[in-house]
Amino acid sequence: MGQTLSDGSRASHAASQSQRAAILRTRLMSWLRQVRDRLAPTEYVNAADLPDEPLSPYRARLTVQKEQAPDDFETGEREVVAGEMKIIYQVRCACGKRWFNPRCENVQLCPRCGRAVLLRDPA
Ligand SMILES: [Zn+2]
Repeated sequence: MGQTLSDGSRASHAASQSQRAAILRTRLMSWLRQVRDRLAPTEYVNAADLPDEPLSPYRARLTVQKEQAPDDFETGEREVVAGEMKIIYQVRCACGKRWFNPRCENVQLCPRCGRAVLLRDPA
């Protein structure tokens, strides 16, 4: 009798473990899908060629010409200015410390552990 009970609890333990694994797998797949969507290149869609199925907000930016826009559609204008872009290198030591450097230097000192960090040029 005791054996039947222990067999039953072992079986339910195995079942809950496989359920947990299935839940983790589902979460991982949905996370992977989200990451893939975010990393996908942005596609600019003309409102005139608007597809029936709207694309995800990460991929679609709509531009609508005033004449084509419905009356309740809000169109806006923005001031355009020239900006400045700068390359900054993120460096990571084996100890886990990260820092930024505006110059590409192949040897740097870790501010946390004090070791010299050898770096290859970024690909
Ligand atoms: Zn370090």
